[in-house]
Amino acid sequence: MQDINTSNIQALESMILEARKVSIVTHQKPDGDAMGSCTALYHFLRMCGKDSVRIILNDRPPQNLGFLTSDIPVENLLFFQEMQDTAEILIRDSDLIFCLDFNAFHRTDKMEKALETTKARKILIDHHLNPDRTAFDLSFSETEISSASELLYQILIRTSSIGMDATTLPPQSATALMTGMTTDTNNFGNSTYPSTFLMASDLLAAGVDRDAILSQLYNQHGENRLRLMGHMMKDLLTITDDGVAYIVLDKADQERYSVSEGDTEGFVNMPLSIARVRMSILAKEDNGRIRISVRSKKGTSANECARAYFNGGGHENAAGGRLNIPEDVPGVDSVAEYIERQTHTYLNQENENL
Ligand code: 5GP
Ligand code: MN
Repeated sequence: MQDINTSNIQALESMILEARKVSIVTHQKPDGDAMGSCTALYHFLRMCGKDSVRIILNDRPPQNLGFLTSDIPVENLLFFQEMQDTAEILIRDSDLIFCLDFNAFHRTDKMEKALETTKARKILIDHHLNPDRTAFDLSFSETEISSASELLYQILIRTSSIGMDATTLPPQSATALMTGMTTDTNNFGNSTYPSTFLMASDLLAAGVDRDAILSQLYNQHGENRLRLMGHMMKDLLTITDDGVAYIVLDKADQERYSVSEGDTEGFVNMPLSIARVRMSILAKEDNGRIRISVRSKKGTSANECARAYFNGGGHENAAGGRLNIPEDVPGVDSVAEYIERQTHTYLNQENENL
């Protein structure tokens, strides 16, 4: 963890000390790690005596993450797409902006321009490949770690206010950090390191109620979600000769099953349970574009595939992107053919290079 050193921690502490107005931002369509790291940092900064701390999100998080923000006053939690003018002013007038769980401003969607042009100092805390370090005054970028939440944990416990003692963290921060790590690892299913288990152990010892977190995350869904999963795995899943499993979920099915944000979380991983599947892709029709999630087994790069063919990127085995209409595909009906053709090219190029 090269970026986590005494001089960077001291730089972070003095930037916090000097700042009056602090904003916290993350990637669009915020997931558990994004929300966990943002809310954990919010409560830490409040503990440090910062009165003006705002979380500014491009759009609303899924409902099952609502417990993370329930004790944050509404005026401190803003959605850029819903209050663009206010959010732009807040970003412009911030002294310090924390950028969590993303590697480049375009990942914040509508907030990109405001973040590029503000004079605020910016601190990156992220675990994705290819960070745009030049855009930040201070970068904590580490890819050999489970999540942005774990990276933030490793930073916070080294500050003088926490002093390597997890029991000193605000309880809401401890819960949020455990939550973010849990969702990004699919509940310890992938991307775990020795440091991840040590963190979990220290947070449990500090009093975090993991059972309550798991119940909030995984046992509060509507019936529609499980019915949709059945439909997707039974009727929509195709597996190619190259071992690529893919599902195209169009708007009509999303409406039929009343799909809301977060309802398909985790489904893209399921086809990897099949022995001959090397890579799994979920294509979801969105307004004017197709959102893509890619997952792969060791030896196949989801990140490279997403960068090369889906205008995206991410981690080695978990990445995402999009297909633009009409630049990449004329419409949702052509997505299956596009995925088959491009993944065939990608996987056979890869074979030639072996
Ligand atoms: P998910 O499939 O869960 O939306 O995303 C999986 C991973 O890929 C996450 O780490 C996410 O940050 C990354 N990712 C998703 N969409 C994009 C994208 O459009 N561009 C890039 N660079 N990364 C993405
Ligand atoms: Mn993450």
